[in-house]
Amino acid sequence: MQTLDNFNFAGKKAFVRVDFNVPLDENMNITDDTRMRAALPTLKKIIADGGSVIVGSHLGRPKKGPEDKFSLKHIVAHLSELLGQPVKFVGDSIGDEVKAAVAGLKPGEVLVLENLRFYAEEEGKPRGLAEDATDEEKAAAKKAVKASQKEFTKELASLADAYVNDAFGTAHRAHASTALIADYFAPENKMFGYLMEKEVKAVEKVMKDINRPFTAIMGGSKVSSKIEIIENLLNKVDNLIITGGMTYTFAKAKGGKIGKSICEDDRLGLALELLDKAKEKGVNLVLAVDAKIADAFSNDANTQYAPVNDIPDDWEALDIGPKSMEIFADVIKNSKTILWNGPTGVFEFDNFSNGSRAVGEAIVEATKNGAFSLVGGGDSVACVNKFGLANGVSYVSTGGGALLEAIEGKELPGIKAIQG
Ligand code: AMP
Repeated sequence: MQTLDNFNFAGKKAFVRVDFNVPLDENMNITDDTRMRAALPTLKKIIADGGSVIVGSHLGRPKKGPEDKFSLKHIVAHLSELLGQPVKFVGDSIGDEVKAAVAGLKPGEVLVLENLRFYAEEEGKPRGLAEDATDEEKAAAKKAVKASQKEFTKELASLADAYVNDAFGTAHRAHASTALIADYFAPENKMFGYLMEKEVKAVEKVMKDINRPFTAIMGGSKVSSKIEIIENLLNKVDNLIITGGMTYTFAKAKGGKIGKSICEDDRLGLALELLDKAKEKGVNLVLAVDAKIADAFSNDANTQYAPVNDIPDDWEALDIGPKSMEIFADVIKNSKTILWNGPTGVFEFDNFSNGSRAVGEAIVEATKNGAFSLVGGGDSVACVNKFGLANGVSYVSTGGGALLEAIEGKELPGIKAIQG
């Protein structure tokens, strides 16, 4: 497989798919440029080689073609600042204007294309279908957009000599610029960017080359949204800590009294099944034993501690209690591979964030002692940032949905397109 480090971009044009889907405020100022910074090493390597860079990305979810608020022109000045050099922009993604701009690119120059999702062909989903469209009309529209997607992809590919995918955030999508385009490049001319390389390696360390014991900590509010992940992890881990709001579905399923705590009553059977499966597979499934309970869903509510199976009627559990923190920390500190997704409680409320903080701190300690730790998929990233622990873990993933699909065991089209 080709790598960025082994490729000399001198005199070549590279189409680099990045994830510059950054949040913008009402004045079109970037409020968080993490995703842009994450792609800089890749862009700088190509520039330093003397290659020219064609940057492709999406921004937001345009559903009806070009819209000013989704234009990538808003990020050009900031990219130029980050790279310390001028950056060109063309207000389209394919067509004559783009071809001319690309033809005029000199070595070391950077050109940003307009939002790829201004074309329905990027995602390959039909647009503008009437609400009452028949199944036949829907099928015909889908067929039409798939056909024109081929032309769109081919034209994008024809702009460049090499294809670099550095957009892990969209690796779970089989879109034109994230996966399909790779077919138009020979194996030696397509590769991951540095960010994507790091993400892929991190995922491999928790899904393939596992150093044991392997502990996964799955938090979050609902069992129903994490079933696939939990089931896949039961085939991989030694310890599975299930925490957050999911705790109380398990506690009730086991016959406990959970007061007003969050619970999915239609998943009680599933919770028992998962407990059985864990036993069958020899996985140590760890649940909280105590909770910090509140008399209202508020940071300022009155609080006390209670066993997870004996919560008074008008109270609800908003975080784990001190005994559980100790149990979790003990398991985590004895692990060599750790995956963390989802908080232990309502970490957004400071008074209910201690459990998540304790998990984060135990992971940092295990990491110091040589464990590999991967944090990712939404709220746990917010947690490690909130507690200032991001530098103490091995890797914080940038891809929410993509990481979750990877740990569900799915093959990501953006990765497969390069790895073959
Ligand atoms: P998810 O989006 O499923 O990963 O869940 C994350 C959310 O679960 C966070 O916003 C937490 O506030 C919430 N959460 C975690 N524990 C609890 C709990 N005990 N009660 C209510 N919400 C919770």
